[in-house]
Amino acid sequence: MNSEKNLQKDLLESLLLKWYDTYQRQFPWRARPGISPNPYHVWLSEIMLQQTTTGVVEDYFTRFISLWPTIQSLSKATLDEIFHAWQGLGYYNRARNLHRCAQILVQNFNGDMPQKEEELLTLPGVGPYTAAAIAAIGFNQPTVPVDGNVVRVFSRLLAIKTPLPTLKKEIEKFVSCVIPSKRSGDFAQGLMDLGATICRPHLPACEMCPLQGLCKGFRKGIAKKLPFPAPKETKPRRYGIVFWIENDRGEILIEKRPNKGLLAGLMGIPTTEWKESPRDIEDHTMLLQAPKGVHKWEFLPLPILHTFTHFHLELRIAKGHTNLLGKGVWSSLDHLNTYAFPSVMKKVIRYATQAQSLKNKAA
Ligand code: SF4
Repeated sequence: MNSEKNLQKDLLESLLLKWYDTYQRQFPWRARPGISPNPYHVWLSEIMLQQTTTGVVEDYFTRFISLWPTIQSLSKATLDEIFHAWQGLGYYNRARNLHRCAQILVQNFNGDMPQKEEELLTLPGVGPYTAAAIAAIGFNQPTVPVDGNVVRVFSRLLAIKTPLPTLKKEIEKFVSCVIPSKRSGDFAQGLMDLGATICRPHLPACEMCPLQGLCKGFRKGIAKKLPFPAPKETKPRRYGIVFWIENDRGEILIEKRPNKGLLAGLMGIPTTEWKESPRDIEDHTMLLQAPKGVHKWEFLPLPILHTFTHFHLELRIAKGHTNLLGKGVWSSLDHLNTYAFPSVMKKVIRYATQAQSLKNKAA
């Protein structure tokens, strides 16, 4: 790196760290200035933050830490207990990996987080971004996790017009040249905070930005337009039926989902496969996949709509009655909330129970 670039690197580092020392955000997982970070807290928060915003994660993080204050205690929890505390956060594979990972940490790493990215990458649920985040924030290792915030800040600082996702590779290369040898954790968190509070996606607050003097995007007047997005992909839509089955005692049939595939191992209302064609629903051939013993089905008028990462789902609710129990268990309505249902199943339960109470009122 030539001397002008070195100067820019030093300036970037000192401006950002000075700003971070004054304006850093407070989170329950973040160590106070002068206190060593707890790598368990960093790991847990990073897993929770993978698909969820900081505002939502704060309560979940605090609950997890009060239930399981150490990696050892988390490793002794059952998967169902973890699912239960995770309810509402979605993407349940993260909870499953948390559980496996805690056990591996106790068995192979004495109950501690490893410090090196290569070792962190061997753990379930820890990809390149999370490994870099734990190494930098938890152990001050010289690395920077590159997320959407960091990509946005650097694409603007350098006025790079390459669209995503190729842009990310370019930014990663550049970032690897500006990692400070000291305070890497604060540098990484400073970038995250700057991206979240100042260099925001639609309305960057350039007039308050400590890096304005270095920012080519600002100088050229194109900051707001950067980074250029990836071409849009349209999500496919899938269709299915859920079977809301009651017995004579008013209990509902629920079952554990298969251990592989989407929502694996979670509790659910029995459902058909989710197909790409609505015709399968319209001609009711999918009713053949229903639990046995129900002789008459009644469809609720509206479908449930839910969006997963890769597809939209439209679920019709078919109501039936039987006392026959094949697969699954009966649960009273009051006890349904003691099970760890994923969000889509919670929507089904909400709609089916509301429809029932409206019917009861009308009767
Ligand atoms: S000057 Fe504006 S565009 Fe540039 S880094 Fe700061 S907030 Fe982002």
